[in-house]
Amino acid sequence: MTKCRAPVFVGAEKPLEIREFDIPEVGPGEGLVRMVFAGICGSDAREWHNPETETPMIFGHENVGVLEKLGEGKKYDAVGQEISEGDYVAFCSVAPCMNCYTCVVLKEFSQCERGIKYGLSRCDSRPYLRGGYGEYVHLMPGVGIVRIQGKEHIPQALLAAIGNKTLVHAIQRANGISAGDTVVVQGTGPIGLSAIVQARLCGGRVIAIGAPSHRLDLARSLGAVKTLNIEELKTPKERVRAISDLTDGKGADVVIEASGASTACDEALQMVRIGGKFILVGMDMTKRRTMDPFQVTRKGIHVTGTYAASPTDLYKAMLDLRDVEIPFDRIFTHKFPMVEATEGILSVDRLEPVIGLIDHSR
Ligand SMILES: [Zn+2]
Ligand SMILES: [Zn+2]
Repeated sequence: MTKCRAPVFVGAEKPLEIREFDIPEVGPGEGLVRMVFAGICGSDAREWHNPETETPMIFGHENVGVLEKLGEGKKYDAVGQEISEGDYVAFCSVAPCMNCYTCVVLKEFSQCERGIKYGLSRCDSRPYLRGGYGEYVHLMPGVGIVRIQGKEHIPQALLAAIGNKTLVHAIQRANGISAGDTVVVQGTGPIGLSAIVQARLCGGRVIAIGAPSHRLDLARSLGAVKTLNIEELKTPKERVRAISDLTDGKGADVVIEASGASTACDEALQMVRIGGKFILVGMDMTKRRTMDPFQVTRKGIHVTGTYAASPTDLYKAMLDLRDVEIPFDRIFTHKFPMVEATEGILSVDRLEPVIGLIDHSR
């Protein structure tokens, strides 16, 4: 086979177009991945609606597949594990340029703006195959590939790639969560559920705020000791009061915002204790939200956040998840074949799946 297919974004709210591409020759240090699963991210749905999203584009920045070809000279993955053709791998969504200020001086490779962004940038120049919704992805040198220990660890790797890697990164930026900390997680979508798991692994006492009730059940089975249903506690005031009551009036040690809701940041600052931490993850850049900065100065709150993650974060998240019981069938609830990618995006847009996937075995 010399050709492969990918669903291509060709304009806002138009069905993705299934197009044929040549399977590329793999140069030194490069890789070719035959995709197994790609996460359908909420941000894909936003990009699909957005008239400013560049075309053509192949979505898919949360990816797991089989390393089908490995270019000359590449023997190790991004964390020093030997890799060879046939291995299952997950990979980060940025191939950093290694020349800009962010790369050279700051060494924040995952934040490089000049590099190639897989699943998030135009696909009309080499590498053409740069999104996991397609059957193949062409990896340039510098993409953080992480080998998966075996086929049975694919679900863990997938969840790491979708959410937990970003939480590992965010919690590290916040200088950690301590055992016994009360951690409020706002939101029970993919990122919120990852936040619950990762905060539990740090020893946190997690209170999750979200809806609907089946997601709150899932939140509890992932380790939340308490859940607050926003369909019952409808106002910010009620939710802030509830957290105050659950922390004996002291406030939460840590609040992680993973909901994107319009009042969530402001609520979070009211929920955090004096000297506590507020961690923001992901975020919808098309929305402006208000919060009261006086709370930050009054309480000396440590505010930080990220939407990025490094290969090391991905690896650590994969390791973390290997040892915990996760009901994956209740998390990866919707799977779509590549040819139904548009339907997958619409379904995620309607918040039907807990996590929706492009399943390339279908
Ligand atoms: Zn995403
Ligand atoms: Zn760079």
